[in-house]
Amino acid sequence: MKPLFSQETPSLFALSLSGRSALALPKLDVPETPLPKSLLREELPLPELDEVSVVRHFTQLSQKNYSIDGQFYPLGSCTMKYNPKINEAAAQLRGFTHAHPLLPPAQSQGSLKLMYQLQEVLKELTGFTGFSLQPAAGAQGELAGMLMIRAYHRDRGDTQRKRILVPDSAHGTNPATCTMAGFTVETIASDPRGAVDLAALKAACTGKNAETLAGLMITNPGTLGLFEPEIQEILWSIHDAGGLVYGDGANFNALMGIIKPADMDFDVMHLNLHKSFSTPHGGGGPGAGAVGAGPRLAEYLPGPQITRQGDAYTFTTPPHSIGRMKGFYGNFSVLVRAYTYLRLLGKEGIRRVAEYAVLNANYLRSLLKAAYPTPFGADRPCMHEFVASPNLGKGITTLDIAKRLIDYGFHPPTIYFPLIVKEALMIEPTETESKETLDAFAAALMAIAEEAKTQPELLKAAPHNTPVGRLDETEAARKPILRVRACP
Ligand SMILES: *Cc1c(COP(=O)(O)O)cnc(C)c1O
Repeated sequence: MKPLFSQETPSLFALSLSGRSALALPKLDVPETPLPKSLLREELPLPELDEVSVVRHFTQLSQKNYSIDGQFYPLGSCTMKYNPKINEAAAQLRGFTHAHPLLPPAQSQGSLKLMYQLQEVLKELTGFTGFSLQPAAGAQGELAGMLMIRAYHRDRGDTQRKRILVPDSAHGTNPATCTMAGFTVETIASDPRGAVDLAALKAACTGKNAETLAGLMITNPGTLGLFEPEIQEILWSIHDAGGLVYGDGANFNALMGIIKPADMDFDVMHLNLHKSFSTPHGGGGPGAGAVGAGPRLAEYLPGPQITRQGDAYTFTTPPHSIGRMKGFYGNFSVLVRAYTYLRLLGKEGIRRVAEYAVLNANYLRSLLKAAYPTPFGADRPCMHEFVASPNLGKGITTLDIAKRLIDYGFHPPTIYFPLIVKEALMIEPTETESKETLDAFAAALMAIAEEAKTQPELLKAAPHNTPVGRLDETEAARKPILRVRACP
């Protein structure tokens, strides 16, 4: 595959030639007056370029972006599936883009109807009794759910229920949102199968421990890409102790159309509409973390919800609502895309999505198993993703493998997460990839395993085809450089 990012793009300042211009201003029809000296800042040079050079410069920069429209993007946990272009066509309809969120319901029936129907489809897919489309991301849905659980216990005078159990394989947002909602997080270990250690869980929610239990936050399938074998037993234990269960629905792609979270007895769960239902995401948004709830918690959902009275749509707030999580209705254009995707596929199509996502992951896992074994759950099928623990020898780390994959033209999978897998390499192919793409990706990873034996230094120094090599990611996040400078 053609190496990406192979040439460096010079900055506009380096391309600048004195006297060039991309502007042709009309003839002056007023007297010319020189700008006051105080407004001209000599220390701020501007590049001088013609229009073609400017267009080519920015087009080339945009082509350096790695994107799902350009290449395979097997980033585990993120569900980087192809986003059908019909979603964009729907989101760009003038009736949607020109609707102001302060329009009265009578003048926004179309938008309200779409949101109402989306709520209904999500209820059907999950079995929940209520949905709120407001949260702007999965993490905000989590926070909403935790605030709902807090309100529920408070209404019963159970203010001593402060402990939330969270498995050690959890996504970082899980303990973070529990803490933000005022709970204390108690980590539950995984057993050698990669499942929740049932004995540890039971110990944490029986006897004296039952009285202080607020609930459990769990992802199923978990971040190891494995279905939780004892999910029923786990959820019943929590409910027996008077606790509630939050489901992190980020892995819904493996289940949708097959089983409903409410049937497993989850009380509240978010769906990452941008992951499961194909909205472009990454780089921080926008997203949508619709949150659904069963009978115990539905009346605590954030408002407003879209409701129907006869043929008219309006919005109302559930009786014990925790309030708003975000302005207006959430990220409306993401809702339009998710709705379009769901309508496009229909009930049968959604089920096929989950089946192919799981099939693709198992196919890829089997192609890679000689060099990239999965320490947890190797004896049973994985769901929509799997977590390998490579040990290629010669001091080669997962970071080296990830960097070398860039030379082969692939976005690296998620690395070093979940934390309980040594040198974790977390791969999620999604249902939208062809067998040819999966074969090519597996071939690249197997070639890298060979290189590790014969020329490990090649991996240690990778990537070789990018303008910059290994970056200090912590420093980059702490001190980002967000503008071009003419002078260093
Ligand atoms: C993505 C993800 C989240 C958080 O969702 P955002 O929409 O990114 O806020 C939570 N848990 C898991 C397992 C995820 O993959």
